[in-house]
Amino acid sequence: MIAGVAVGYVLSLSASGSQIVIDYIKPFGKIFINLLKLIAIPLIIASLIKGITDLRDLSKLSSMGIKTIGLYLTTTIIAITIGLTVVNLINPGKSISAENRESLMDGFAANASKKIEVAVATKQRGPLDALVDMVPSNIFEAASSNGNMLQVIFFVIFFAIGIVLIDPKKSAPVKGFFDGMNEVILKMIDIIMLAAPYGVFALLAALVVESPGSDVFVSLLWYSLCVVIGLGMMMFVVYPLAVRFFTGRSLGFFFKGISPAQLLAFSTSSSAATLPVTMERTEEHLGVDEEVTSFVLPIGATINMDGTSLYQAVAAVFIAGALGVDLSLGDQLTIVMTAALASIGSAAVPGAGMVMLVIVLGAIGVPEAGLALIFAVDRPLDMCRTAVNVTGDAAVAMIVAKWENKLGDPAVKDWDDHYSKD
Ligand code: ASP
Repeated sequence: MIAGVAVGYVLSLSASGSQIVIDYIKPFGKIFINLLKLIAIPLIIASLIKGITDLRDLSKLSSMGIKTIGLYLTTTIIAITIGLTVVNLINPGKSISAENRESLMDGFAANASKKIEVAVATKQRGPLDALVDMVPSNIFEAASSNGNMLQVIFFVIFFAIGIVLIDPKKSAPVKGFFDGMNEVILKMIDIIMLAAPYGVFALLAALVVESPGSDVFVSLLWYSLCVVIGLGMMMFVVYPLAVRFFTGRSLGFFFKGISPAQLLAFSTSSSAATLPVTMERTEEHLGVDEEVTSFVLPIGATINMDGTSLYQAVAAVFIAGALGVDLSLGDQLTIVMTAALASIGSAAVPGAGMVMLVIVLGAIGVPEAGLALIFAVDRPLDMCRTAVNVTGDAAVAMIVAKWENKLGDPAVKDWDDHYSKD
């Protein structure tokens, strides 16, 4: 990461250097992300089927499901509340000068309207459409690149339930196939991760070259600070305390186990791309049984985005303040509701949280064009919020595992040992 930033910075000083990064370094970052995304769907299929068919008793599935969803909603509401508290205390909307506001609105209007278009398409829907969306009519379409991870999860859980309910003689070969496939996928992830340092280097070098100048960052400093303080509280206070209280595991243990996934989330800005590593770390280094990780983490990557919901709450209040819209207490409660839903609906890919922010803005009557104000700093904040999203998933997985008696000692003590052993 550090080498990527340094090389990106040095080469960004000249136009030809920047071009070299874009033409010859950035593609390797893209290949790395593609490989991670490539493996995500097969991983969900194989590990979820293995996890559920190992359960044998389906009542365990529903008890785990209720705990998981309950914890995901709770952490999301805590995140939004922290975001709203910080942004109301600091009130960054007031600190932005009229001149900076105009230049940001003009400079990023076009980018913002593209996001707004995508969001408007999502918005014009009935109240139960989200439920309808969960049930795919074609599994191959669901698993395609424009597909929907939640639909894949729905199909796979359904399929696995079918396996558990049929005659064991008939189900044994199907189960054996997916157990073997799971091993193959895990090995593929090991191989992909050998390229992680190079992929991350390329991603960060490209990011530095493509980021806007530092003056934009300064004018959005207070807003960015609010998001980062809120995210920091989730990451360093809420999750470690929850893990300590509910599982008895220490802060050091938790961070040592999950940090590679956090760094990858930070580098890729995508919880979906990070999922293979989150699963591996949570299982092998945090001691969560595969039955729990295979169920809790794919669902978490799709619906549990604490960092995103916190950011949406802060951004909504900031944009309202900067545009001179006063928010009542009722508006703030509307933000809690809509940011929770918007974060659940955000895809686990870079910049998705910003698209769904349009829905939060619409609900409190703030002009959506205000998105242009925060565009310039969205990527670095996306990196931070994705790291929080992934940490939240892992923390919940540990707690659910503890409640289900599935939290043991980590199988692998150290990341390097794991690879040298292999
Ligand atoms: N990039 C985030 C994620 O993948 C979503 C977002 O907030 O844009 O978790």
